[in-house]
Amino acid sequence: MPKTIRAPYLNAVVPPISVSSAYYFRDTEEFRRYKAGEISGGRYGRYDNPSWLQTEAELAQLEGTEAALLFPSGMSAVANTVSALCKQGDRILYTGCAYRNLRTFFNEQMSQYGVESCAICQADIEEFNEEFKKQYDNRCRIVFVEMPSNPHMYLVDLEYIKSVIDPSKTLLIVDSTFASPINCQPTKFGADLVVHSCTKYLGGHGDLLAGCVCGSMQLIDPIRNYRNISGAVCDGFTAFLLSRSLETLGVRMEKLNRTGLTVAKALEKNPIVSRVYYTGLSKHPHASLASRYLSGHGGVIAFELGCSAEEAEKFIDRLEVPFMGTNFGSHHAMVEQCAEFTYYKLSGAERSEMGISDTLIRYTVGLHTPDVVIDDLVRSLRSISLQIQDNRRKSPVVHV
Ligand code: PLP
Repeated sequence: MPKTIRAPYLNAVVPPISVSSAYYFRDTEEFRRYKAGEISGGRYGRYDNPSWLQTEAELAQLEGTEAALLFPSGMSAVANTVSALCKQGDRILYTGCAYRNLRTFFNEQMSQYGVESCAICQADIEEFNEEFKKQYDNRCRIVFVEMPSNPHMYLVDLEYIKSVIDPSKTLLIVDSTFASPINCQPTKFGADLVVHSCTKYLGGHGDLLAGCVCGSMQLIDPIRNYRNISGAVCDGFTAFLLSRSLETLGVRMEKLNRTGLTVAKALEKNPIVSRVYYTGLSKHPHASLASRYLSGHGGVIAFELGCSAEEAEKFIDRLEVPFMGTNFGSHHAMVEQCAEFTYYKLSGAERSEMGISDTLIRYTVGLHTPDVVIDDLVRSLRSISLQIQDNRRKSPVVHV
């Protein structure tokens, strides 16, 4: 295309995917007007991309914030956000059940830059509140909360945290990946910034990696400046895929919320299932917080089996519907035995400290109908139950 011709058909219903590494100006006068802010446009692909702008505007709208920024993964959204906002001598307080790599990032990476971090277990909310008040001081730059936590779906009381912190010194950041903006908008409860792994519910098809941070223009601007330098940018095609997925987020979450609850209730009734972690169930330890903060509970259920680790492995191997793998939020059903799959590098003591028992299973329901998922689960659980009875007949050792 000759350089004087601009891209045609900018009124397309689905906006074009922008993959350009650079943007041109007709002449020096046009560039001067661009620098003066008289005309909009891009300058270079690490700073500007119209496909990001489209998707970022949609993300901000979903979270009810002024602005949003895209990143190539959830981890890079967190790493860039925290790096942009912290300086040597600052402190980070974070929920102890936060995603494994986030904990490593805080403890091993941020510590190298003189930023201290401290984890507070959120399994017992009274203990969390007490410890939070004890640990909070005016060096605390960031309180980082993963809510609901993965996979136990533990929550915290955002309004309590907000009542303790000094807003002129401390920012409350919520990783709301497990809720999605359909089930919770943390800024309504005082969060300053919200981060997501868009790889999960927001992407929703298991075919992209992306992350985002949403918040006020004032907080997003320095993070954008940091991203311009760190170069943690996602490509135009991924931005397009994410934008396409956001169009269906509401209907997907509605279905996942319904199926998740139905499957969690069915699991709760099964005699081999010893415990179910799903905030939609009244027995979840944070059910009353859930009624304040969540409008739905999503498609991921964690549960423990009353059997041995080996029997739990067999239960997984005999399932026919889900893929065995470590992702959630897409249309695929997926299952993992957490101790074996995601937490296998940790010692038994570290796992038990985090509440990851040998038979803890994380199941994500996908867009299947509930009956398909439940029939498969019940069939596999029944076969394990028969095996347990058989083992007990053959051996005096009883697994509980
Ligand atoms: N936050 C949560 C709650 C997660 O579960 C994950 C990944 O599983 C991440 C952040 C990191 O996201 P990503 O894998 O897109 O880097």
